[in-house]
Amino acid sequence: MFCPVCRNVELSKREIEPNLWASACENCRGRWLTSIDYNNWLKSRENLAVIPSKKIKMSIPEFELARLCPECRRILVKYKVGQNIPFLIDRCGNCAGIWLDKGEWETLKRRNLHEDLHEIFTDYWQEEVKKGETRAHLTKMYEEKFGKDDYAKIVKFKEWMENHDKEDEILAYIRDPNPLQF
Ligand SMILES: [Zn+2]
Ligand SMILES: [Zn+2]
Repeated sequence: MFCPVCRNVELSKREIEPNLWASACENCRGRWLTSIDYNNWLKSRENLAVIPSKKIKMSIPEFELARLCPECRRILVKYKVGQNIPFLIDRCGNCAGIWLDKGEWETLKRRNLHEDLHEIFTDYWQEEVKKGETRAHLTKMYEEKFGKDDYAKIVKFKEWMENHDKEDEILAYIRDPNPLQF
């Protein structure tokens, strides 16, 4: 089995966590996790039942050679992790194996996402990632419009007002140019 990145480097078995075996590339330090090995490891950690993931639209960056599954030669599909994780994870839609580049497993572990790999590829997770991106984009727009400090005040005020039983009266007061005059 050869590295999907280096192509001509053979992968060798390595235990990356107790009871979790991966095929590792000594050259680029990437790791290949089969779904069976990963799921067995999850089960050995007494996790909840593994949810099978549904198929999701492909997204392959244009400027990179497509990576092929080292086992079944299908094109690996890239998935966003969200939660400010800067990299994408490659996965084979056929055998559900996962390719992690150098350091990615360690980053996922630090963020306690290493036990969620089987969730990341579900529609639900991917939709949450998209929602998170939209929220971040809109927040940035409002911060540019109002200024960061003022926007924080506005958010706080809106939250307070929405929970107030005199919301409409407060709004009317604010919009009234002379609320203290008859
Ligand atoms: Zn490699
Ligand atoms: Zn495959």
